[in-house]
Amino acid sequence: MRFVSTFGHGPAVSFRRALFEGLAPDGGLYVPDHIPRLAPDFLAHLSKTPLDVIATEVLRLFLHDDISEPRLRELACDALSFPIPLVDVDKRNASDVMALELFHGPTLAFKDVGARTMARLMEHFHEGDTERGPVTVLVATSGDTGGAVADAFYGLSGFQVVVLYPDGQVSPIQEVQFTTLGGNVLAVAIQGSFDDCQRLVKQAFLDATLRERMRLTSANSINVGRLLPQIIYYVHLVARLPPEHRPVVVSVPSGNLGNLTAGLIAMRLGVAIDRFVAATNTNDVMPEYLRTGRFTPRQSRQTLSSAMDVGDPNNFQRIQTMYGGDVEALRVDLDGAGYDDGQVKATIAEVHRRCGYLMDPHSAVGYLALSAALDRHGRPATGIFLATAHPAKFAPIVEAIVGQPVAVPDRLRQQLSRPRQMTKLAPDLGALRQLLLSRHNAAASGG
Ligand SMILES: *Cc1c(COP(=O)(O)O)cnc(C)c1O
Repeated sequence: MRFVSTFGHGPAVSFRRALFEGLAPDGGLYVPDHIPRLAPDFLAHLSKTPLDVIATEVLRLFLHDDISEPRLRELACDALSFPIPLVDVDKRNASDVMALELFHGPTLAFKDVGARTMARLMEHFHEGDTERGPVTVLVATSGDTGGAVADAFYGLSGFQVVVLYPDGQVSPIQEVQFTTLGGNVLAVAIQGSFDDCQRLVKQAFLDATLRERMRLTSANSINVGRLLPQIIYYVHLVARLPPEHRPVVVSVPSGNLGNLTAGLIAMRLGVAIDRFVAATNTNDVMPEYLRTGRFTPRQSRQTLSSAMDVGDPNNFQRIQTMYGGDVEALRVDLDGAGYDDGQVKATIAEVHRRCGYLMDPHSAVGYLALSAALDRHGRPATGIFLATAHPAKFAPIVEAIVGQPVAVPDRLRQQLSRPRQMTKLAPDLGALRQLLLSRHNAAASGG
């Protein structure tokens, strides 16, 4: 399979190239040149198929030209080393409401699935190409991405990770996830805003000196190497459904729409999901598009579900490419709605009191949009919302809402007590260039 740009201008490239390039040369995002279907036999026996078998089969569909099946299996097992349970939460009239908990990975958020798999795919290709020296993964983060990417590449030989974040502007829980690892992970506190961090990353990729002297790659959410692994858990959720289930509606808490795009691809692969819901906070350009047919990107607003504060969701292009820009066709598969912080808080409290289930603000947006979709449709369905973050990851918010402490998983508790290490840096390309080169030279000489 080859990968092409959503803008349709550049050449069709190998997966390997799309993976290390990130963005296509024409500025578009890479997408598979066609969407294959899962074998009917595989789908017929999907029920109870283990996660690693599903992961291997899904990745094989897209990557069989590039990586052998045994290697894919090894890599998937290593990346998906945590459970992804489907749990009962609630009943709504005759419909069931369940959560697919995607937050049992090392950084307690769903981004671990994509980031860990992508890191291992990069490691696989890099192993055959080490004479070109170490690869530096450079990312800017406003919170969640930095932790998932740093953790995913932590300890992988041949890789250095440099995380740029705005000093003093990420939560303590987010900060410990990339400042306490050490080893091949360097955290850089930029004396500026998140926009400064993103600008520096862009400038670094264009910098002639850096391009000549070291290998830089990005690991942000537009990378197709993060998108494809996210298809896996939609197939997995269908495999975990109770045998007597009804039509399946899946609600996806959305920001940049990467998670939702992966779901829509899963539907095309042939799995039994009947409908999706794009669940957003008040940054609701996607629900608005579904309602009006007009896509109007704008400045993002701050909400409690901060990882979904996106005013110009970049994966929209990929969805447009899949549906040929036809909003009618998209409406057949997708519903959407946005919710404000007041609704999110009330829902976290209510579901906790009534069902004993604790949700983080992102997952709560998913629950709200699912409930509304189930009510609107009337017919009994099996409703599933993706739980994208562990409530402990947003403990201060959640504790204030439910009025009791949230249990913190061991790993996070240990991290919270470790010393944080970061390098402070002015928002200046010259300073960043120097830092990247010295880090690269030390790694290249085995230091
Ligand atoms: C990143 C993130 C999202 C949004 O996912 P997209 O793929 O950007 O739509 C939702 N919830 C959490 C917890 C996240 O970290």
